[in-house]
Amino acid sequence: MSVNQQAHAGPPYGQPQPGYQGYQQPAYGAQSLPGVPRAQYGAYNGPMPEYQQPGPPQGYFPSLGFPSKGSPVSLNSDSSSLAPNFIGSLRAPPTSGAPPPASGASHPSGHLAYSQFEHGDVQNGIPASAAPMQRPPASQPFLPGSGSTPVSQPSAFQQYGPPPASVQQLSNHMAGMTIGTATASAPPPAGLGYGPPTSVPPVSGSFSSPGSGLYTPYSATQGPPPTSVPQGLPVAQPPFPGQTVSTQRLPTQVPGFAPPPPSTGVGPSSYPPTTGAPRPPAMPGPPLPGQTLAGPPSSQPNHVTSPPPPAALAGLHPGPPMSGLHGPPPPTHPPQPGYQMQQNGSFGQVRGPQPNYGGAYPGTPNYGSPPGPPPPPKRLDPDSIPSPIQVIEDDRSNRGSEPFVTGVRGQVPPLVTTNFLVKDQGNASPRYIRCTSYNIPCTSDMAKQSQVPLAAVIKPLATLPPEETLPYLVDHGESGPVRCNRCKAYMCPFMQFIEGGRRFQCCFCSCVTEVPPHYFQHLDHTGKRVDFYDRPELSLGSYEFLATVEYCKNNKFPSPPAFIFMIDVSYNAVKSGLVRLICEELKSLLDYLPREGNMEESAIRVGFVTYNKVLHFYNVKSSLAQPQMMVVSDVADMFVPLLDGFLVNVNESRTVITSLLDQIPEMFADTRETETVFAPVIQAGLEALKAAECAGKLFIFHTSLPIAEAPGKLKNRDDRKLINTDKEKTLFQPQTSFYNNLAKDCVAQGCCVDLFLFPNQYLDVATLGVVPYQTGGSIYKYAYFQLETDQDRFLNDLRRDVQKEVGFDAVMRVRTSTGIRATDFFGAFYMSNTTDVEMAGLDCDKTITVEFKHDDKLSEDSGALLQCALLYTSCAGQRRLRIHNLSLNCCTQLADLYRNCETDTLINYLAKYAYRGVLSSPVKTVRDALINQCAQILACYRKNCASPSSAGQLILPECMKLLPVYLNCVLKSDVLQPGPEVTTDDRAYIRQLVTSMDVAETNVFFYPRLLPLTKADVDSDSLPAAIRNSEERLSKGDIYLLENGLNIFVWVGVSVQQGLIQNLFGVSSFGQISNTLSALPVLENPFSKKVRSIVDMLQGQRSRYMKLIIVKQEDKLEMLFKHFLVEDKSLSGGASYVDFLCHMHKEIRQLLS
Ligand SMILES: [Zn+2]
Repeated sequence: MSVNQQAHAGPPYGQPQPGYQGYQQPAYGAQSLPGVPRAQYGAYNGPMPEYQQPGPPQGYFPSLGFPSKGSPVSLNSDSSSLAPNFIGSLRAPPTSGAPPPASGASHPSGHLAYSQFEHGDVQNGIPASAAPMQRPPASQPFLPGSGSTPVSQPSAFQQYGPPPASVQQLSNHMAGMTIGTATASAPPPAGLGYGPPTSVPPVSGSFSSPGSGLYTPYSATQGPPPTSVPQGLPVAQPPFPGQTVSTQRLPTQVPGFAPPPPSTGVGPSSYPPTTGAPRPPAMPGPPLPGQTLAGPPSSQPNHVTSPPPPAALAGLHPGPPMSGLHGPPPPTHPPQPGYQMQQNGSFGQVRGPQPNYGGAYPGTPNYGSPPGPPPPPKRLDPDSIPSPIQVIEDDRSNRGSEPFVTGVRGQVPPLVTTNFLVKDQGNASPRYIRCTSYNIPCTSDMAKQSQVPLAAVIKPLATLPPEETLPYLVDHGESGPVRCNRCKAYMCPFMQFIEGGRRFQCCFCSCVTEVPPHYFQHLDHTGKRVDFYDRPELSLGSYEFLATVEYCKNNKFPSPPAFIFMIDVSYNAVKSGLVRLICEELKSLLDYLPREGNMEESAIRVGFVTYNKVLHFYNVKSSLAQPQMMVVSDVADMFVPLLDGFLVNVNESRTVITSLLDQIPEMFADTRETETVFAPVIQAGLEALKAAECAGKLFIFHTSLPIAEAPGKLKNRDDRKLINTDKEKTLFQPQTSFYNNLAKDCVAQGCCVDLFLFPNQYLDVATLGVVPYQTGGSIYKYAYFQLETDQDRFLNDLRRDVQKEVGFDAVMRVRTSTGIRATDFFGAFYMSNTTDVEMAGLDCDKTITVEFKHDDKLSEDSGALLQCALLYTSCAGQRRLRIHNLSLNCCTQLADLYRNCETDTLINYLAKYAYRGVLSSPVKTVRDALINQCAQILACYRKNCASPSSAGQLILPECMKLLPVYLNCVLKSDVLQPGPEVTTDDRAYIRQLVTSMDVAETNVFFYPRLLPLTKADVDSDSLPAAIRNSEERLSKGDIYLLENGLNIFVWVGVSVQQGLIQNLFGVSSFGQISNTLSALPVLENPFSKKVRSIVDMLQGQRSRYMKLIIVKQEDKLEMLFKHFLVEDKSLSGGASYVDFLCHMHKEIRQLLS
């Protein structure tokens, strides 16, 4: 079924609602799908006679080794466990707004599945500890007795009074754009964002705009802020959506290329004026504050001293200067020409010879436009160009201390590298959805002009930190969730109730729908339902609905899913010790299958298969004394030789399973079989799930190219000579369409495939990965697997993969308000139509990136809305809908767009776009397109938003100042520009991996984190401050750690003190350090403990266990390490950051001329 399946026969789409002609119903047909879905599933569940035949099919023979006897075990034995789930879940009160029975804690509903967070049975209630902070209002119903009003509002407020913007931001604001100086845009940010509480203008003041009606509820009913609220701002603040956002990140000119002026005293004069008056080129600028880096504070990441607040700000911000601002008082307002010039100079504008700059400093780069022979090119000072480290640190210090409250439309969240808490007050947490921009151009023309892609990166089942509340589960009983009659959007905080609450108008399509009698509630004087805070779906951005049977395949509630472990037992697998390792691990790991809520044991059933050229199925029925093996040698037409006893409950069959896992390594210990099949293995798992009528996951452990005669047989077609040719794309394409068809069948059944690869040579990841990729599964790759060095990594990955939260048989639909719609999707999934993203499995790490395009005009008043609905089966077999809502602003000024972008998300999108592009276009074409698009984005900003200045000046929007450096990292990544050591399989693997990454993962993957370990404070829990990824930042007397989500390198300089080496490696000299260590030795000294705790902490933050590699300076392995120093020129020809920035500048200038 598709998410939008229509549970009740509603009026035909687009049909006017009688009696409500007053409400316009814009044509919205495109979004809605006729309720065909059910038929779609019918096919999946049709009777499969062949699998139900009890008699053993031909082609298998019982293994002689196992006695066969015992009573049958029903495959559906677990079905009874479903009952409690459905009964116990939270039921919304019928018509009254009364709080539901004190159900909170007692709700068994699946949420306990999240017990990993130790919420235990609190699922529907508010965790005690979190209660104060968590969204109080929504929870009210769950905490009868607690006042309705207070808590939430205040907290929300904090949002509006974010920590003072960094000086940098302020000055940027001032310096930059016309926008900043301009009238309208300025106020919002200033007042709300920067003013200390007291200084915040009363709500009414400049922010009188009522905002959309949808938001009024937040402010209207709120009582006075509770005393506990840190900042006693009037409630009303929040209601004004558009405003806050801008406060977060002021658009800024990022001075890119400025040669650092000689550093002298810091003075107000050095600050750039707000206006863009042309400055005389020749004027020697006054001394710049600090160094160049110092430029405007904002732009200079490396800048040390804080600049004074820009003068312009003073006018805009009534409040006293923020605490964060230091420095001399702002200069008096109107910019003086002299300053302007200065500013330009400081921002790297290159003009004619500048006496002042003289030889004292690195010299002006060549990018300058101006007349006159440019001075001989000199190297641009890396400290003068935007630093990722500085941006990350600034965001941490500015936004890491206050919770991010989601009550306001279009807020840009803190960066993914900042630790922050989220309070859901009506919009989905950025942990679930991040956007490239939180302010969307009103028209498609504007969007095209800017070339800024409009995309959302959605992680529907994201793991939350323990301090945050999991989505509440709402149960509307047999009637199911309330939805718009026309577009089928689910009830959400943005729906508007009218006519005394008898009807509601859809915020997505404007259609008016009758409120079902059981859902009726009166409205208060502000038009808000009086049960607003009692219902998660009215007050929260994210929540879940218990799905009714109409949302299930075949109109039948699903069975709990199954896990099938399928182990390659060919020669290589056995010889490397892998088979024994897996079997040993499974014995204990099976006790940790995902379970839901406070269920005592997992509902997931398990099954086992081993294979080489043939498949071995095992009967592990609990009544058996020993497992039975059945061999299927006819792999051409795969079937499952047994139904009863194949999928079992772990606890019931524990003895038999343990016996099996003990015997498997022995049985194949002497195997000579080197050939394997692959497709039949997947087919076998698929057929087993079909027969059991359930969804599930296959864990396949595979070692080699499947060359044995069988469907899906592959040949070695690796050819590195194709690199940089028009045929390079074939290396990324599957060599046969067989697997695409198989994937389709798997998705239909809800059969997700996770693939663990242990290759010693090429095994065609591009082809083997098709099924995992299209079923929402994962691929793990351990090249040249060796027990000693790789087992920890593999076992950690396996444990996490088996235990992590996962939904099955999932369908995701993203609805949007009129004017934009989802047009493109990136990730691990399958699509059979243009709107529904289907995933046999979707785990907590998987991300789907969705691109939007205009199909109409948007309005600044109403903004734009997204609703992501994910229909899935929980690990206990409960059918649910998870809903995420997000409201965005819309703008008619490009400057507003550029002020509310998020570069990390942009890079996530661009990388996925490019990585898909290599399937169909030459890599060079893809690279050029990326560069061109980004140049256009920046040129558009330069042309329309930045103040007039010399063409020789590179001006970057504040929130995109890292776009060039990050883009360069994407361009020189292994997929787009492979070095000689990168294999074809590596590239295919990385390509698929990145496609499912969230924003935090792409961020660290493309720009790795580099930490000076020798600077770590052994007495604190904190990490040493990161440094930029360049060799020149390394000191040979220090030890560094570099991580990118897949690997951790520990680099040791040749001159590191002997004591440090002794403490960390337990050897007495540099020369004795072994570079084959896969883990740091456990030594009892503070430095060793500190470093190991850092490593453990980093491992815990990533979805995969990173491989630890020790690199000694000047050792062979150092080449590998240097590959990740992404600001430097790469061996494969990738440009250095400095060179690339120059290149981008040239591209931009060409576009502007
Ligand atoms: Zn609608």
